[in-house]
Amino acid sequence: MAGTITKAKRERAWRMYQILLETYPEANCELDYGGAFQLLIATVLSAQSTDKGVNLVTPRLFARYPDAATLALADPEDVETIIKSTGFFRQKTKSAIGIAQALLERHGGEVPRSVAELTKLPGVGRKTANVVLGHAFGIPGITTDTHVLRLSGRLGWSEETDPLKVEADLNALFPEETWTKVSDVTIWHGRRCCFARRAACGVCPAAELCPSYGVGETDPARAQKLVKA
Ligand code: SF4
Repeated sequence: MAGTITKAKRERAWRMYQILLETYPEANCELDYGGAFQLLIATVLSAQSTDKGVNLVTPRLFARYPDAATLALADPEDVETIIKSTGFFRQKTKSAIGIAQALLERHGGEVPRSVAELTKLPGVGRKTANVVLGHAFGIPGITTDTHVLRLSGRLGWSEETDPLKVEADLNALFPEETWTKVSDVTIWHGRRCCFARRAACGVCPAAELCPSYGVGETDPARAQKLVKA
């Protein structure tokens, strides 16, 4: 459950969100996809991988298997070969084909629009469900990936480490309509500036408000070299 939120905490979190929004106005899901089904599969493939790595394999995958009907009938060995470079390819192949089959059996080949239904699909957790709901359907949700978990602690938004509890804290801290965008800008900041190791605090746009300023490099010149475009 989310703890008590003071007015000051809410206002400070809102200001940090606004700064991140101004810094990364184009922040969005960085996976390439066409429609909800492809986003769902791409998100499953992104586990323990990078979005860039997934984007290298999905053009071939989706050219051959663009929807649930085609992927449900796929030869697992063929899918494994295509997605091999993303890691854990056997398990991911099982999940991807299993998802396609479950969608055909239970949802007429369509992607359901609720966390409850999405998380019944093989290999789909709340994080994946919220990515799909937020970006394919415009249904707001907090994506508690590694960056959101780390930055929620650093920015003082949550003292929790359990993804469910962090999600609940952020749900309570921000208005519902902003949840997907809060996740996107936080992930972008985690990927470009507030790194797990050697955060670029010295050039961070949120530094003035951040209670963790100093966990990383504070020298502006050295920090600037760390930042990713
Ligand atoms: S000041 Fe440092 S710890 Fe705080 S958000 Fe910026 S980079 Fe991260």
